[in-house]
Formats: sequence, C-alpha cells, structure tokens
Amino acid sequence: MLKEYNPYLEYKDGELHLEGVSLKNLAKEYGTPLYVYSASYIRDRVRAYRRAFPEALICYAVKANFNPSIITLAKEEGAGADVVSGGELYLALKAGVDPSKIVYAGVGKTVQEIEFAVKQDILMFNVESSMELDVLNDVGQSLGKKVRIAIRVNPDVDPKTHPYISTGMKKSKFGIDIKQAKKEYEYARKLKNLEIVGIHCHIGSQILDVSPYIEAVEKVVELYWDLSKSGFDIKYLDLGGGLGIKYQPDQANPEPEDLAHAIMPSLKDVKAQIILEPGRSIVGNGGILITQVQFLKDKGHKHFVIVDAGMNDLIRPAIYSAYHHIVPVVERNSKYIKTDVVGPICETGDFLALDREIPYVERGDYLAVLSAGAYGFAMSSQYNARPRACEVLVEKGSVKVIRKRETYEDIIYSY
Ligand SMILES: *Cc1c(COP(=O)(O)O)cnc(C)c1O
Repeated sequence: MLKEYNPYLEYKDGELHLEGVSLKNLAKEYGTPLYVYSASYIRDRVRAYRRAFPEALICYAVKANFNPSIITLAKEEGAGADVVSGGELYLALKAGVDPSKIVYAGVGKTVQEIEFAVKQDILMFNVESSMELDVLNDVGQSLGKKVRIAIRVNPDVDPKTHPYISTGMKKSKFGIDIKQAKKEYEYARKLKNLEIVGIHCHIGSQILDVSPYIEAVEKVVELYWDLSKSGFDIKYLDLGGGLGIKYQPDQANPEPEDLAHAIMPSLKDVKAQIILEPGRSIVGNGGILITQVQFLKDKGHKHFVIVDAGMNDLIRPAIYSAYHHIVPVVERNSKYIKTDVVGPICETGDFLALDREIPYVERGDYLAVLSAGAYGFAMSSQYNARPRACEVLVEKGSVKVIRKRETYEDIIYSY
C-alpha cells in the first residue's frame, strides 16, 4: 500500500525507509518536525510528464515547493518553471532555469515584479485582467521591449475539488471569462509593446477525475481556432497544472499518461506547443513530514495524540480539511487506537488528523505524515514563534540537508 504513495517508501525490519534511508535515523540526527524528500521520485515524475507529453514544455509550478534544490531537480530533468511572484522567479533563475522556459501567472503582479521578469526575458506572462495588459504594455514601453503574453482564460468548468483550490469557475478571481477573451485579445493586439503568443488556463488543483480537463481543453481549443481564423499567431497553449495525487488510501495516484490519454485527442490538429504546469503531481508524494509524539491525552470520550508538528508546519488539514495518511516510523504491534492527531499550537484548527484509526503509539515515537511534499513546507510559517522545520533530500541512500532548521535568532532576524 505504501508503494502506491511512493515506490521508494518501504518498511525494512519494521522501520520505515525512503530511498534506502532510515527515517528514524534522520529524525534522530536532524530533529523533528522534519521534511524528507525523495529525489528519485521527483525525477521520475518529471520524466513521466516528459514521456507522456514528448512535445510539450513542462513548467514545474514552483509554488508547490520552492526549495531551490527541488527546483534544480526538476530543471535537471528538463523542466522549466511556472512562477507566481518575483520571489519565485528569483529562485527559478538561481536554480538555473532558462528564462525561455519560465511562465509567470498571478492576479496581482506589481510593476516591480513585471520589470524584473521583462528584463529577464521570460517566455511569457499569463495575464489575468484587462488592466494588467495596459500595465504590461507600459512597462514594455519604458524598457523598450516587447512583452510576450498569453491571456489566462477562465473556461467556467467545475474541477470537482475543494472550493479553495478551484480556480476555473466563473465566480473565481482568476483569469478572464472565456466568452470575453476574444475581445481582450483584440484589445491586446492594439497595444504595440505586447506580443500575443499564447492562451493559458488553469482550472484548479488536486483534480483526480480527468473529465473537467477534457471540458476545459475543448473550450480552449475552440478559442484557439477562433483566434487563429482572426489572424492571431498562437504559439503556445498553456493548460496549467492541477493533476491530483493519492492522499487517502482508497484514492488513485493518477499518472501524467492518464492526463495525456484524456486531452491529447482534442489537441491533435493544434499547431501550438503545449505547456503544462504541474506542481503537486511532481512533488506531493515525493515528501514526508516526520513528527515526534509528545504526549497522549485521554479524555474518556476522546483521545489525543499530541505531536511536535503544528499547523505552522503543515496547514493543509486546517485550511482545506485535507487528509494526510499517517503511519508509524517504527512498527510496534497491530493494536489500533482512534484518535485526533494534534499539534502544539494554540488553535483548535491545529490538527493533522481527526478521529483517525492509527497504530498504537507511545511518547517519543515518530510518525510519518505522507504526501507532504507539495504545499507543506511552502505554506509553513513561524506562527507561535516556532522556527520552521529542516528539509532533507535523500537520493539512493545519500542524504543532503537542503534547508537548515531555523533558530530563534532567525525569527527575529529582520529586526
Ligand atoms: C498552483 C498553480 C499550478 C500548479 O497546480 P498543482 O495543482 O500544484 O499542479 C499551476 N499553474 C498555476 C497558474 C497555478 O496557480
């Protein structure tokens, strides 16, 4: 069952290992909470995308996990980067990603961020509003450069995922209503510092059923033909990211190939290059959060396992009611308890699992929280003045610290 999450994850003599490295030893050496990532898994996933879409440009969505070593892994496997801020652009460039493989989305790009990206000559901006077109045109004018753009269209499809990660519905703040898109393209054509090169859409995240993709792609392709007939030279169709991953034991871990089978038929006559922006499906099941049991608390009607990882380390359960599977790092016996697994933070929303059957644990035991590679560390904070966790990368038995645990000094660093 663990192998369905990550083929490099296994028990050896009752101890959990990732790529041959004992997670108990890592926890003892580097302390907890500790993020551990599997480099081979991440490489495999980028390769799987490249195999499934041999002609496409795969732009790793940096926001899922912005650790420079992780971006570097994706780059080494041939991926570009999808960024949503100046900071992410900076990190992608630092990791050595070629600017000609960087796309930039986001509803609130500042002039400063836009200037930075224009100077770097990135592949294209994914534009989210009419007003942004004007600002991009102005920046192009002042820097004496043509700015390459795609318009992010909102195809109004329901990705059937959590509402907070649905981005392609009419009521969402993202993109331009696909019915208004042609008008915006015509408007953009009049702005002389813009070069229109693409169409972009991204309908949401953690999408396990491919049918919303089919629906969205069909609408985008329809727009592509319409624009082509009107003389637009659309070189890129950027279809975004969003492919889901296995979080719950009964969920599938879809392959990029499944997505290719679903959408390639609709794209067969399209001349434009396809761009994809996967984040979660590259790193999600490549990462694990190790935490140590601090206390057990029995209130009679309710049992609590209190661990040292809080919502500041992994916020997904608190904000999305997300399920993360939790397994012991060292197996004991087959006795189970029904419990909440909660963190040390002074918030009722600070939990990793509610009413969950987990194997019996004692104070000092280590637990592994699975599927924590995406939107885990990236969304972490110092809330409650807690230094952020250490991040470690393992690859075929080797271990590398890719971000040191923060200290108390780091918390006050900027004062
Ligand atoms: C978040 C985001 C992605 C990545 O989404 P995943 O679900 O992690 O694959 C891709 N493109 C854009 C524009 C995004 O905002």
